[in-house]
Amino acid sequence: MVHIGLTYNENHRLHDPMLNGFPGPENPQRLNRIFSYLSENRVLDNGVCTLFSCGPALIEDIQRVHTGEYIDLVRSSIRRSVRHLGNDTYLCDSSFEVLLQASGCVLHAGALVAGGICDHAFALIRPPGHHAGVSNSSGFCIFNNSAVLARYLQDRYAINRIAVLNIDAHASDGTYSIFSADPDVLCISVHQDPSTLYPYRGYIKDIGVHPAHGLSINMEMPPRSGNMEYAIFFDEVVEKVLGRFDPDIILLECGFDSYFKESLAQLDLTVDGYYAIVSKLASKWKMVCLLEGGYHEDLGLLVSVVIEGLMGKRTVEDGVDQVDLLATRHISTRKIFMEKLLKLKMILDPYWDLGVGL
Ligand SMILES: [Zn+2]
Repeated sequence: MVHIGLTYNENHRLHDPMLNGFPGPENPQRLNRIFSYLSENRVLDNGVCTLFSCGPALIEDIQRVHTGEYIDLVRSSIRRSVRHLGNDTYLCDSSFEVLLQASGCVLHAGALVAGGICDHAFALIRPPGHHAGVSNSSGFCIFNNSAVLARYLQDRYAINRIAVLNIDAHASDGTYSIFSADPDVLCISVHQDPSTLYPYRGYIKDIGVHPAHGLSINMEMPPRSGNMEYAIFFDEVVEKVLGRFDPDIILLECGFDSYFKESLAQLDLTVDGYYAIVSKLASKWKMVCLLEGGYHEDLGLLVSVVIEGLMGKRTVEDGVDQVDLLATRHISTRKIFMEKLLKLKMILDPYWDLGVGL
């Protein structure tokens, strides 16, 4: 039977924009909502999931990715009661402890899978991480969780072939900046066209740099892309590339803001789309999912769908009528998507033999 490990940072409530007197979308309600849903629907009573509590990561775990100067800047800013790192990332008095415990949960989730205790794992943590670079915060992200985990798995478990896959609506620009020259880490980010959405980076042309050309993939999904466009992209690019790269583990930057109800982005994934993505990958590879963005009311529902995808057993229904959803979008969405897909495949074909022109 499949065994899935869940971790979460209990102290996340101490990282809250309201503690600074202002509301904001990245707040404790996100994880609170998830755990209310899991509890009310008895998702964790399925005999498959185990919830693990975790201690904080060590500074040396963070330093595998981030510079000592940057870590000191985060810590000293908090000590000096600075409430913002850059324009869009807030800090509270206990944020450093929250960040270390979130990283601890991420490392523990990775250790559960790498150590053979679980088949897959899901770290339900906040704040998110995928916009953070080696020495910069961005978009609510301070430490890059997937990068911290990838370096830990390489160092402590000698796992060398790692794939990081971002399905958050926002491009995984921090992760790209960390791994764009690393031939051991494949980075795939499928996100809303960054000419229409923060972080305004992560274009099809961005395929990594020497000696890792072709090992970064950025797919620009036109606004209102949904289950079908994702299915085509995963069939024609992601599964082929993963099959050739053959990772030992996939780290899924699991953002839920690609969902049709998300007000901060304009994509149209629904329950069926999330289930299809996760179940296909989990049937072939070990996965560690890390919570990234997603700010709407259905986060708990989608976490349960991802858990079912990891299990390969579906009970949650998709209540969305795809015909209605498609009726509200512009007729050119599929056409623009197909043009972008062809452009991506032509750029990547020399590296991955995607069969362009056959
Ligand atoms: Zn996002």
